Amino acid sequence: MKIVVTGATGFLGRHLMPVLIKRYGEKQVMGLSSKDYNLMDPGQVRRMFEECKPDILIHLAAYVGGIGANRNFPADFFYRNILLMSLVFQAAAEYKVKKLIYPIGGCSYPATATSPIDEGQMWNGYPQPESAGYAMAKKMGLVASVCYRQQYGLNSVVIIPGNMYGEYDNFRTEEAHVIPALIRKFFEAKRARAKEVVVWGTGKPVRDFVYAGDVAATIPFFIEHYDSSEPVNISSGTSTSIKELAEMIKELIGYEGEIVWDTSKPDGQMVKIFDISRMKSLGLSCPTPLREGLKRTIAWFERNYDNRGDGIRL
Ligand code: GDP
Repeated sequence: MKIVVTGATGFLGRHLMPVLIKRYGEKQVMGLSSKDYNLMDPGQVRRMFEECKPDILIHLAAYVGGIGANRNFPADFFYRNILLMSLVFQAAAEYKVKKLIYPIGGCSYPATATSPIDEGQMWNGYPQPESAGYAMAKKMGLVASVCYRQQYGLNSVVIIPGNMYGEYDNFRTEEAHVIPALIRKFFEAKRARAKEVVVWGTGKPVRDFVYAGDVAATIPFFIEHYDSSEPVNISSGTSTSIKELAEMIKELIGYEGEIVWDTSKPDGQMVKIFDISRMKSLGLSCPTPLREGLKRTIAWFERNYDNRGDGIRL
């Protein structure tokens, strides 16, 4: 059984590769990046299937970015991701892969979804407009999963990770999600002996953070035991306010100054929590406590910050 991972050098990919290698052995697992094939080019997609001969394809390659990038280049996010998705589904069907696993983001849910967000809410409305190009392109993977199963018998599975964080995340200030953004802010403030750290919003919004290593650890289950186009939320199912998060990161980094809330910055959705009943009914969990996951993420960040090591995105 040959397992091929596209986007293997990305955030989730770097958590997933060791999980797969440990379980299936080095010879069975092949990781690809955009340097190997341009999967927006139909010819190169075919070449990838012919040369790599995947039995199982885990398609993590995507064009991702923060809210700023999404706002400036919505068409690029739409076009590139819909190509990356449709070309690979089509070729996976033609080359008869045994299974295709495809993640989409929680941002594909309607902007008006009510927390806890269960998979049944997916088609109730339009996503957050700022990232709709990205979110809708990814969301079409759900349609592809159903259509290709119907016409070609392609066994594909769509998973929906919650707000992932962990080592290898994107720490670039303009692009980062809240956890890497705050880790960087508190770390740099501690070094500079700054008196205060500015955190966006009121601190009241609540999120469901999930450690990327936990998401990666569920993938073998989907390879081995799940054969349905019904998507599955993969998250911790826990609620943490941005205030609690900021205080925890401050403490773990050992920063002694003040937190200042910049309420001119947007809070975004007030509550975004995922319903993980379906995931739990499959016997899966994402058990790493936030504190533990943050410790690992901070340790990795601190190890790599000065020498720009381990592919850290700063
Ligand atoms: P979201 O889950 O899609 O809203 O994405 P984010 O991770 O970017 O933001 C989550 C929450 O953290 C929002 O309420 C932000 O206002 C808040 N937040 C506080 N400080 C920051 C920061 O420095 N960067 C980011 N990205 N969010 C922050």
